[in-house]
Amino acid sequence: MCTGCMACVDVCSTRAIIVHDDIESYNAVIDNELCLGCNLCEKICPQNNPVEKKEPLGWLQGWAKDEIRCRGTSGGFTTAIMLSFLKNGGMVCACQCVNGEYIYKLTDKEYDIWRYTGSKYVKSNPTGAYKSIETCLSMGKRILFVGLPCHVAALKKYIKNAINLYTIELICHGTPSPRLLKKYIRETGIISEDIKFRNKECYNNNGYACISSKGVLDYYTLAFLDGLIFTRNCYKCQYAQIERIGDLMLGDSWGSDLPKEEIKKGISLAFYQNTKGKELLDKTELYRFDVDLEKAKRFNHQLNEPTKKPKQRKIFFNMINKNRKFKTALKRALPKEYFKRNVKSMLIKLRIKKPTDMPYGIWVKNN
Ligand SMILES: Cc1cc2nc3c(=O)[nH]c(=O)nc-3n(C[C@H](O)[C@H](O)[C@H](O)COP(=O)(O)OP(=O)(O)OC[C@H]3O[C@@H](n4cnc5c(N)ncnc54)[C@H](O)[C@@H]3O)c2cc1C
Repeated sequence: MCTGCMACVDVCSTRAIIVHDDIESYNAVIDNELCLGCNLCEKICPQNNPVEKKEPLGWLQGWAKDEIRCRGTSGGFTTAIMLSFLKNGGMVCACQCVNGEYIYKLTDKEYDIWRYTGSKYVKSNPTGAYKSIETCLSMGKRILFVGLPCHVAALKKYIKNAINLYTIELICHGTPSPRLLKKYIRETGIISEDIKFRNKECYNNNGYACISSKGVLDYYTLAFLDGLIFTRNCYKCQYAQIERIGDLMLGDSWGSDLPKEEIKKGISLAFYQNTKGKELLDKTELYRFDVDLEKAKRFNHQLNEPTKKPKQRKIFFNMINKNRKFKTALKRALPKEYFKRNVKSMLIKLRIKKPTDMPYGIWVKNN
């Protein structure tokens, strides 16, 4: 059940807990020598004691101004809201990559916000974030936390006085272990730690090069989008529904009725659960449009149910546990998809097939 939210690690005064990542799943392990038996870890765990979920009060779609939208994953709502929150005197805690680790950082600096921008398709690590937020809240600061739903839930359990706390949860269909991403990156021979998981034409690459051949997905992204490589808990995600725990929920407006050229540039989908969520939207300069709720739900399965665990996942992880290469494990687990991808790549190279746009995929910054 462990989501790796690290709330138990942060709450333990004797540092008796570590969360073990075995690539396939996370698990909190208690050192009985250090444990005082206070039970705080059990009480704080959002898997043991779920946070109350609420129906959304309203929903909309749209985008931020061009400069933000092009760099954002969807319509750039998240970055625009983070920037506006900062401008209004608040601090923001969100995920960024630091030396190859996907950690949460609390900041009042604009340059950090730009480092938060962009989806990182890997499980992030909030260790230490809850404590830092609690300290800053106690000093009277206003804080905006942006993160995965399981991390927002953990923060809600951790913070007792949340008057000045605002939360944004991302719609999330699952996250792989960072150890798996590291293994894949190592095997492809990439040295740079500055990677992006999605790119837009309007961003004009900006010094990033796609690691895959033209018009096809790299193997990590292929496995990610197929739902093959998430940690075990993700297939039973309790947040995969329309009732949520954050003040605001943001994602992609799949199935949008807006013009195709707008869809290509990215459209955000927003659900506000309370007045705080609405305030975050209202205080930010955004282009807003109505959205058909039923259609949004139909095109975004994560708003109805968790990703289904594929049968082939077992084959994949059996191979990984035998220390086989990521590519070899994928070929064994998803042979059809693997060969289809490689045939497509060959046809594109021979100019028999035209490459189509690939918004997904790993992009690396050229040094
Ligand atoms: C693992 C994952 C799975 C997702 N699955 C779906 C889905 O199924 N359906 C859907 O509609 N949307 C999904 N999303 C959300 C979508 O990809 C965009 O992140 C979201 O629409 C916000 O886009 P934006 O342009 O507003 O954000 P941007 O302006 O690009 O900002 C992105 C924000 O997300 C935060 N962030 C990125 N990656 C992580 C991470 N790993 N952990 C914590 N915080 C992170 C950043 O710190 C930043 O604050 C997923 C996101 C992630 C990270």
